[in-house]
Amino acid sequence: MEAWPGRGLDRCVILSGRNAAVYGEWRSELCQCMMPDDMSRPLIRGRGEGGGSRRLEASASEPGAPVIGILGTGDFSRSLARRLVASGYQVVVGSRTPKRSVALFPEEAEVTSQMEAASHADLLFVAVFPEHHSTLVELKPALAGKTLVDVSNALQINRDGPSNAEQLADLFPESFVVKGFNTISAWTLQVGPRDGSRQVFLCSDSHQAKSSVMQLCRRMGFVPVDMGLLSSSLEIENLPLFLFPSWRIPIICTISLFIVFYLYNFTRDVLHPYVREGKNVFYKMPIETVNVTFPSVALVMLALVYLPGLCAAFLQLWWGTKYNRFPNWLDRWLTRRKQFGLCSFLCAVLHVIYSLCLPMRKSARYKLLNAAVKQVKDGVENSWDDGDVWRMELYLSVGIMALGLLSLLAVASLPSVANTVNWREFSFVQSTLGYCALSMATLHTLLFGWDRAFNPNQYRFCLPPTFLLVLILPLAVLLGRLALFMPCVAGRLRQIRRGWERSRHIRFTLPSDDCHNGLEDVSNV
Ligand code: NAP
Repeated sequence: MEAWPGRGLDRCVILSGRNAAVYGEWRSELCQCMMPDDMSRPLIRGRGEGGGSRRLEASASEPGAPVIGILGTGDFSRSLARRLVASGYQVVVGSRTPKRSVALFPEEAEVTSQMEAASHADLLFVAVFPEHHSTLVELKPALAGKTLVDVSNALQINRDGPSNAEQLADLFPESFVVKGFNTISAWTLQVGPRDGSRQVFLCSDSHQAKSSVMQLCRRMGFVPVDMGLLSSSLEIENLPLFLFPSWRIPIICTISLFIVFYLYNFTRDVLHPYVREGKNVFYKMPIETVNVTFPSVALVMLALVYLPGLCAAFLQLWWGTKYNRFPNWLDRWLTRRKQFGLCSFLCAVLHVIYSLCLPMRKSARYKLLNAAVKQVKDGVENSWDDGDVWRMELYLSVGIMALGLLSLLAVASLPSVANTVNWREFSFVQSTLGYCALSMATLHTLLFGWDRAFNPNQYRFCLPPTFLLVLILPLAVLLGRLALFMPCVAGRLRQIRRGWERSRHIRFTLPSDDCHNGLEDVSNV
């Protein structure tokens, strides 16, 4: 840190050309210098602490730079003040008790009364809890015509409104309220955008006020995202409070399937030998039973990725139009296919790890040894079984290919990767390769089952083997997909997707066959 006095990290936004390249070198060295003690650094440093970084900020503040006000002297205010100073702004902080708070702010920030801060700055951050917004009403005349940035968050998800920002706008009708920065934590502000979320969601009814906050945002190194009018503030305030909203159903589905299949396998593989033969095989519960459960969940979840697309296609064929709304459950299912796929991928990876660990277990070694001893006793010289060897080779090979394809799908679903491919490429990976992965995984399960479905001993407690149950859904999905490939069905579906409606008898000719990508027309809804 001491090696770089006067070089403001956040000033990268105003460097260009050769300077930017030099800055890149500074930055990488600076980052290397900073990494080890970053975590041990206190979140907030007061006056008199901070050595090198104090000088860094001192040189960054520009005389004559815009004055930014902050009302409140809490955690958020202190981190924001540091970042604003480091970005070259003059900062004035308004407090009810300025003398008590002054030591907590950088020297370059002026800590004064709320009224004075409101009078000096044209743009002010309201860094007080929304419950206390009303205590600021006496500042109304001083804040008239100024921009107020509401950074507040709600305690719980507010579905009906009004939002905190809308209430602030009602309190200060002569000011321009901008909602934003509530998704950025005090910590992110403190360490800068390099180590946290970079996006700042902003909305306001005043275009000019929003533009000035966007500019400030960029200068601080963040990426402003325009969310439109102040009516979007409710959505922005709810953003930090959601707990994986799109993951809830896929996760519940995965856990439920896991429990069902685990109990099923436990009944067949552990309970049955105990009840029928008095054999204690409870040691199978932590690894073997889990290992046959994970692939079952993975395959069913993968089939559930492609099932809603088929349902949608068949519904459109049934209705003879694409303009009818899908039922809500199907709509939600269609938008969560990525999460279903990633849950399936996770189960498949866990299955692979468990399978690789199988030979390491003591029980596996005992079994192997006992089998060898038994063979010697029985006088068996060669236990080679061609059919069994081939089954195992194919089963493993197909399983590895299925996992490879699933990994590709998982990587392609990352936003950073998905953004680099066009729609047709995305559709090719997620649909065509996705169906290949489903086919491979189904084949893997079929090879695992081999001829065991016809062995009466496999029906313990009259329960069919797990692989038979698991195969029902993927086979149905694959057959459904094949049905959509039939020329008459595919042709009609293509027409419907291009706007044809049975009831209105709208007639048109489709472009020639080589002008479209048949796969995406059929499968992607
Ligand atoms: P805090 O540490 O409790 O600070 C709140 C400040 O509000 C106090 O320091 C106080 O400063 C000022 N204040 C003004 N009028 C007040 C009154 N009547 N009663 C009590 N305090 C009053 O809270 P914070 O963590 O900085 O959060 C401030 C706002 O930022 C909240 O709306 C929060 O939702 C939002 N926010 C915080 C974070 C975060 O990471 N902390 C992240 C995103 C958004 P004076 O005593 O000097 O007047």
